[in-house]
Amino acid sequence: MTGFTTKAIHTPFLKKDTHGSLRMPVYDTAAFEFETAEEIESAFLGRKASHTYSRITNPTVEHLEQQIKNVTNAFAVCAVASGMAAISNLIISITGQGDNIITSKHIFGNTYSLFEKTLVPFGLEIRYADFSDPITINKLIDKKTRAIFLETITNPQLEVADVKALSKITREHKVLLIGDTTVTPLYLFKSRDFGVDIEVISGTKYISGGATTVGGVIIDNGTYDWSYNPKLKADAKKYGQFTLVSKLKREVCRNTGACLSPHNAYLQSLGMETLALRIERSSANALYLAEFMSKHSKILRVNYPGLLDSQFYTIALSQFNGYFGALLTFDLGSKEACFSFLNRLKLIRRATNINDNKTLALHPESTIFCEYSPELKSEMGISENMIRLSVGIEDKEDLAVDINQALS
Ligand SMILES: *Cc1c(COP(=O)(O)O)cnc(C)c1O
Repeated sequence: MTGFTTKAIHTPFLKKDTHGSLRMPVYDTAAFEFETAEEIESAFLGRKASHTYSRITNPTVEHLEQQIKNVTNAFAVCAVASGMAAISNLIISITGQGDNIITSKHIFGNTYSLFEKTLVPFGLEIRYADFSDPITINKLIDKKTRAIFLETITNPQLEVADVKALSKITREHKVLLIGDTTVTPLYLFKSRDFGVDIEVISGTKYISGGATTVGGVIIDNGTYDWSYNPKLKADAKKYGQFTLVSKLKREVCRNTGACLSPHNAYLQSLGMETLALRIERSSANALYLAEFMSKHSKILRVNYPGLLDSQFYTIALSQFNGYFGALLTFDLGSKEACFSFLNRLKLIRRATNINDNKTLALHPESTIFCEYSPELKSEMGISENMIRLSVGIEDKEDLAVDINQALS
């Protein structure tokens, strides 16, 4: 088995199913029983791999983890309740009071809120860098820096990080590199090849198979030496490469209750089987629409890394398996023009969320970013003239017709 989709579809079960079920069933149960007291003791001590309670592990969730491990060749995978659960549990696991992480202000709004509103009061420091200028990052790193956190393509600014260049810096300073690859997951971006140590993904988007469920994934590429992290140093002596995954599974995710529900894991497993097909189709649709829209007289500017005039074209071409993702934004000159466009859409849906099978349009400034001041919005690269389009897998000509009529 070598191909992505073959592996996703044919990932073996860890245990043979009692009834020979061809698809991993939904183990919708909270607890698992044991024949003897000795067996349950050894399960709790971790001597024998078995499921005890679904907040900790569950066969359906474990199968999704196996599938992702199989397609990525990652060292370990931890599936959790949401993308935000993936990011928050990871950051809690690797940082303590007085530590800092370096990121950009051009990141997903809830991630920014997690950092600034939730974690800063616990004593974490967030340092903001311009990822297009690695020299500035070097200056921000000190002895308390635990990680650099990047998004492969930022949403909604659509800036593309030069991941290898950033990895060179983190490896030099022995700092962890975390990549949120939600908009270029698994099939588009091979995180290990580009030097990302830990990948986090919102499974809600592409993996779920059409916005069916909320979910998240933490992927450990097995490339970081955990003895460099003060909080994990002692564990690293005992667990070596397993340090992070055991911290997550046996402590942090368990204690925060970040578990993915078995039902959601089932749907996300199903989504994994068609992930490559859907990404190819929606990325091709996005490129078609970006080219069509960049010639449209009512549109001032189209931002899509797959357009030749994008400053990120070359780096995107080298990183994402020949695709450019399914997000694009465009400038209509005013908020009024944006609202009027949204209100005239007939096929394309007005909704937040991205990477659904349906094409979705949104005005980010008045929605996801509404809680921030005008100054901060501008630092975050959010303009009131901008529409974000998350392109789905419909027939591309139908999408172009809808956009055209909504602009006229
Ligand atoms: C949606 C999203 C998240 C959060 O994921 P949820 O599953 O909604 O919690 C994180 N990062 C990015 C880039 C996202 O688009």
